[in-house]
Amino acid sequence: MSKTQPSDRSRNPEARAAELRNALRRHERLYYAGSPEISDREFDALMDELLEIERAHPALVTPDSPSQRVGGEPVDGFDQIDHQPPMLSLDNTYNEEELDDWMDRLQKLLVDELGDSDSFGIPLVTELKVDGVSISILYEDGVLTQAATRGNGRVGDDVTENVKTIRAIPLRLDESADPPARLLVRGEIYMPRSVFMQLNERRKAADEPLYVNPRNTTAGTIRLLDSREVASRSLSAVVYDAASPQLSERHSETLERLVSFGLPVHPSWQVCHTTAEVHAYLEHWTERRHALDFDTDGVVVKVEGVGQREIFGATSKAPRWAVAYKFEAEQALTKVEGIGAQVGRTGALTPVAFLEPVFVAGTTVKRATLHNYEDLARKDVRVGDVVAIEKGGDIIPKVVEVRVSERPRDSVPFVPPTHCPVCGEPVAKLDDEVALRCVNVACPAVVRESIRHFVSRNAMNIEGLGEKLIDQLLEAGLVEDYTSLYELRAEDLIGLEGWGEKSATRLREELEKSKGQGLARLLHAVGIRFVGERVAAILARDLKTLDAIEAASEDDLTELEEIGPKVAASVRQFLDHPGNRERLDRLRSFGVSVEALEPEVSADAQSPLEGQRVVLTGTLESMTRSAAKRRLEQLGARVSGSVSAKTDLLIAGEKAGSKLKKAEELGVETLDEAGLIQLLESAGRS
Ligand code: AMP
Ligand code: ZN
Repeated sequence: MSKTQPSDRSRNPEARAAELRNALRRHERLYYAGSPEISDREFDALMDELLEIERAHPALVTPDSPSQRVGGEPVDGFDQIDHQPPMLSLDNTYNEEELDDWMDRLQKLLVDELGDSDSFGIPLVTELKVDGVSISILYEDGVLTQAATRGNGRVGDDVTENVKTIRAIPLRLDESADPPARLLVRGEIYMPRSVFMQLNERRKAADEPLYVNPRNTTAGTIRLLDSREVASRSLSAVVYDAASPQLSERHSETLERLVSFGLPVHPSWQVCHTTAEVHAYLEHWTERRHALDFDTDGVVVKVEGVGQREIFGATSKAPRWAVAYKFEAEQALTKVEGIGAQVGRTGALTPVAFLEPVFVAGTTVKRATLHNYEDLARKDVRVGDVVAIEKGGDIIPKVVEVRVSERPRDSVPFVPPTHCPVCGEPVAKLDDEVALRCVNVACPAVVRESIRHFVSRNAMNIEGLGEKLIDQLLEAGLVEDYTSLYELRAEDLIGLEGWGEKSATRLREELEKSKGQGLARLLHAVGIRFVGERVAAILARDLKTLDAIEAASEDDLTELEEIGPKVAASVRQFLDHPGNRERLDRLRSFGVSVEALEPEVSADAQSPLEGQRVVLTGTLESMTRSAAKRRLEQLGARVSGSVSAKTDLLIAGEKAGSKLKKAEELGVETLDEAGLIQLLESAGRS
């Protein structure tokens, strides 16, 4: 990537800003076309340079600058936008016959209208129906000026700032394709499945409730009041039509023109001249839709001739010239054969329905979650009931509905268990919560889950100890709880099926390595209720040693930033439990580090980054600059673009230039990348 010389840059910031914007737009387009030419890091570097120029010269900021993608100040609420034309819904068909009927009706209408049968055969366009949130986007003089949700179809919310953060959506249209001065397009915003899964993985690791599906998460995200938060969620989008003006007599050509403007039309559309072609399209995507990175709930069939559309018109709800063919719902009916419970690492019992096996969304489902006992009681799910279950791409199947009319006469309401299904000890219901819990710390289910958590990536990160191996070790009686992992000897392992000298040695090495993970990870790993990664990081950062935490009273703990009474009580409770204390002592005796990893700066400061003014410069190897910025901000730092006497810390990556020099001149403390990583780790692994 070529960069202009600094001297050149400072001579003409306006020209450099324009150059950077063009480059960023081009790279955004290439990225979404699936052929990026530069790395994320290089992209971020260009963006950072632009942000820097814009900060120094606010007058140069344009509404279509790619810098607008980072989001702005939170707002109090959304303005309302009138939709002209309205955003209609689509009529649905649920099988090929209904769709064929619709096509026949169109044909008949056309013949009636034109009074002859010569115009036989209506070309149609088939498209995937993206299951996200509808959006209307306005471009004026090529610049994105407004974006609104569907709302009730006539009036929606102005979510312009949020939509600007979506990189798939250009902030400026490609002028070389000659877009109209005013262009209103319609599309769908979605959260890629991969992004959704990562988001849930992070929530799971933090012991936070999981999001149900990408569509709901998208709907929630696009209505967030803080666009910076939206920017961090990596939404994506497709555009499927121009609402005004009409770009072509043919819909397929409209789509091509939208593409030429740089808009993200999904390439799966197809012109069909026969019913057979439409059917083939449906079959093709019914099979392949699970491989897409977005959820799709069907196919939209539209009349290709825009003039013909006018003949068909619309009802107040939906156009007559288009229809949705819904893929068979990823729901299925089946029978509940039994209701059991799964015991998690904190002992919480989750009710599970055992089902008559049923094929749905590409797999055979035998179990579905019933969430919790309150939910189960509300739905009144009983053994023997016929229920509707639902399954999205990677989501745990769940029971969504009971067919009460099909309930057997002799059925009885389900009674929640009084004893743990795994260890048989009585369960407890703690006053403030919904869950039933097995409070037996030696419960095999709790032990197994707590070991799985202990070794997981965001906890002690012990690689090579998957679910199966943990079960194997438990069954062989080689481990009792997570502390005994450190007592495993290579020779014990070698005797087990599937273990050789190499794998045993590797695991020993992993275990050794994990001892130095530091206090924050350790606190997270031992599984204290309400202590996820973030709380663990705060405890480690502020109290520094396990001794200090053990010595802290509930009141001392609530003094800490972000630690409330609930968390404080839970930490105390955990530490006061003799079994837990013993386990911590054992870990200590095995050489597991019980101290916070020390940051290199201001060791005496309570919170190393709180309120610190930090500047990032140069190229980082291990993360993008924007990722580094985000992490620093999460830890309380204020990250700014330019070095001044007020700067507390400069982080200088490779090829740091003028800023590093200036910082040195001003006597500002500097850190290299290794120092940054250490700082981030010790301040909390957010
Ligand atoms: P529904 O909400 O079920 O009535 O379906 C109508 C919605 O489907 C529209 O508001 C669109 O946002 C959405 N949709 C998704 N993909 C397409 C597409 N390719 N063409 C038209 N509408 C689509
Ligand atoms: Zn139990």
